Amino acid sequence: MPAFFQSRAGRQCVSVVVLGATLWILGALLHLGDGLVSFMTGFSKYGADKLVLALGIAGAMSFIYSVLRIADLRKEMELRATAQAKADWTATHDHLTKLPNRYAFERKILSRPIVDDEAEIDEWARNVTIFSVDLDGFKKVNDLVGHKGGDVLLIEVAKRICALGNADCVYRFGGDEFIIIAFGLTAQREERFARLLIQAVTRPIHIDGFGVEVGASVGYDRWADGSEPLEDAAHRADLAMYEAKSRGPNHYLVFEASMQDKVAERAALETRLRAAISKKAIKPFYQPLIDLKTGQLCGFEALARWIGEDGVNIPPPVFIDIAEETGMITALFEDLLAQACSDALAWPEHVMLSFNVSPVQMEDRLLTSRILKVLSASRLPPQRLEIEITENALIQDPAVAAIVLEELHAAGIQIALDDFGTGYSSLAQLARYRFDKIKIDKSFTATCREDERQEKIVRAMLGLGRSLNIKTTAEGVEDHGQLAFLLQLGCDIGQGYLFGKAMPAAEASAFISDRSANLASTA
Ligand code: C2E
Ligand code: CA
Ligand code: CA
Repeated sequence: MPAFFQSRAGRQCVSVVVLGATLWILGALLHLGDGLVSFMTGFSKYGADKLVLALGIAGAMSFIYSVLRIADLRKEMELRATAQAKADWTATHDHLTKLPNRYAFERKILSRPIVDDEAEIDEWARNVTIFSVDLDGFKKVNDLVGHKGGDVLLIEVAKRICALGNADCVYRFGGDEFIIIAFGLTAQREERFARLLIQAVTRPIHIDGFGVEVGASVGYDRWADGSEPLEDAAHRADLAMYEAKSRGPNHYLVFEASMQDKVAERAALETRLRAAISKKAIKPFYQPLIDLKTGQLCGFEALARWIGEDGVNIPPPVFIDIAEETGMITALFEDLLAQACSDALAWPEHVMLSFNVSPVQMEDRLLTSRILKVLSASRLPPQRLEIEITENALIQDPAVAAIVLEELHAAGIQIALDDFGTGYSSLAQLARYRFDKIKIDKSFTATCREDERQEKIVRAMLGLGRSLNIKTTAEGVEDHGQLAFLLQLGCDIGQGYLFGKAMPAAEASAFISDRSANLASTA
């Protein structure tokens, strides 16, 4: 039946025509026409003929009016249906790649095959696999080719993924995350599909004459026999993808129950960390920095220490990572810095306080003012504070990093480039920003005497520091052989277990007195 007759306007139109026709037939059957003619002739002196004519004309006009109204109504309904379809599409699709989005996935009901046999349906449901794909290094490409270039890349990636399978079953979930529903894959073919996904995404893409490459992390899992929502399977695929990502770019993994446990453990740790920060249970410990030429203590690096209520030490890389991801890093940083500044006030004036700033903090335009506020509250002069930043901290948002470094310098705070040689584009960072110190990573110190190539690299780094007039610190000095080697090459400062591990504030004060007493007795 044409759609018009199913619409309200259509139904009304049919009703009017049917009613009109019924009245007409009724009139004919009851000879109403003859009655009307005799009525008009009988009462013509009262104008009955004119009245009937007027009623006839009014009826005809009403009919024409109704037809026009119905036509209007029909047009309006068509427009409304088009707008509704457009709004539906907008709500359920990603504008850039034109792929369906998360909302569409949540509403998705997989249409079951039409078969009589229940067992075949079960078999079909057991063979639905959800793949989660997340790009690796997309942000870097975005920085390189700009947001428009990033858009071109996402469109190309979407096309490539769609070309691998059923286009209707590829979804774009977030910035650079895609979900794919695949049917009828064996475990072996699932693995092959995951590899194909990585291959498809990692092939170079040409944007404005640049050949750019991104990686892909893939996780997947089966839909549990159709009795659970599709999102649950997508969530497990996501967990597997995050685990794959943590192993480096271009890995794929199938979901395992232990991944869920890891997430639960992490969530519990996050709750504990929140409580520890509010109770100020995380303390700064201090590791000595020794001037290698004079043997004098020249500073302490503050290192965060968290001993849980169960007495177990939680390593800084674990909790700093969570603090960064959850935004707790600013509160933790301000708290530790305040404690460290007040401890440093008790040290001799020539003993500097070195403090680590994590990469996410370098994106904070208010970082300098936060530091200056803590300094002024503790009355520690800015000249006694040194901020340690890693190379990776400078590439997240180089423009903001440049401003923050400039502001810190202007305030009299010193800047050290931490873990030098292990991060991203070390030399480029040296050329671009002004540093007061380079800290050679402990991985170089550890092997500089056994490995000739590492030795040459350490030599070159020390030479670089000298020619740029930047002081050098060697981290991780553990034995006298390493110390002699570094001394001979002219390294300025040493830090490592040979001189002392990170210690609580009270031990740091005792260390200061012991060290000066020892130096005086050997002088
Ligand atoms: P880092 O800044 O490179 O700190 C030096 C790390 O090397 C410390 O580990 C220290 O204990 C260790 N270390 C020092 N001397 C030696 C040695 O002779 N041999 C060996 N094998 N290791 C040595 P820690 O304290 O576990 O800290 C690890 C990382 O956590 C730090 O690396 C730093 O990036 C981060 N971190 C620590 N405290 C803070 C903090 O308060 N804020 C921020 N943002 N990061 C922090
Ligand atoms: Ca450091
Ligand atoms: Ca370091």
